[in-house]
Amino acid sequence: MGMKKKLAGLMALSMMAFGVMAGCGGAQDSGAQAEGGTLRMGTNATFPPYESVDENNNVVGIDADIAQTVADKLGMKLEIINMEFDALIPALNAKQLDFAMAGMTASPERAEQVDFTTPYATGIQAIIVPEDSQIVAIEDLKDKKVGVQTGTTGDKYCSDDLGEEHVQRFESGVVATQALVNGQIDAVVIDNEPAKAYVEANEGLKILDTQYTVEDYAAAIAKDNTEMYDKINGALEELKADGTIDKIIAQYIHE
Ligand code: GLN
Repeated sequence: MGMKKKLAGLMALSMMAFGVMAGCGGAQDSGAQAEGGTLRMGTNATFPPYESVDENNNVVGIDADIAQTVADKLGMKLEIINMEFDALIPALNAKQLDFAMAGMTASPERAEQVDFTTPYATGIQAIIVPEDSQIVAIEDLKDKKVGVQTGTTGDKYCSDDLGEEHVQRFESGVVATQALVNGQIDAVVIDNEPAKAYVEANEGLKILDTQYTVEDYAAAIAKDNTEMYDKINGALEELKADGTIDKIIAQYIHE
């Protein structure tokens, strides 16, 4: 099976699984509190290679692997809860999650609502356009219709810079990219690594050789949960220092 077909299949699967989870409310509705031994991590598994859903309905990717090594280090079990990206911060503050790892940018706006650990990776907001597009630079996005994932930093930059009326929000980058393929929008602004996967999975698209912004990804924890913060941040810092995190990232991203 070709890479494109395989990825498209994976994405279809991940969207299906996401639908099923959304339909039954997901694990976060079980009423379970954090028992001593389980770390509840929230994510949005439509963001390869950081997180996606595999054939067996497991969340896999860089964040899942890093979270597992954090849990191992703390001698705890890891439970991954898949939800919409813009539901993660409310779920943290409602104590339905212990932490979130979702390729989440440690932005100043979010830092007012949650605490961020030391950054563990870098992301770039990239611009996807059709191969024959006239758009060649950020300035060309003016007056165009740009697709974003709801609640992401790409959503914020585009809404601020272009005006809300030029931004169309989608539940995931996969769906935004589909709208681009169908000609409903002129461009998609999204993080560069998922952008590569989406372009790989669809014919006729390219990523512009220009960067909207460079950002830090970090894990997020509720502000009053200092005990959890110290555990997760401490483990992440050790895994960063001993090269484990770079090793995990290198398994997925080959520059
Ligand atoms: N890095 C972007 C943000 O934090 C996108 C994250 C995501 O869609 N999972 O807003």
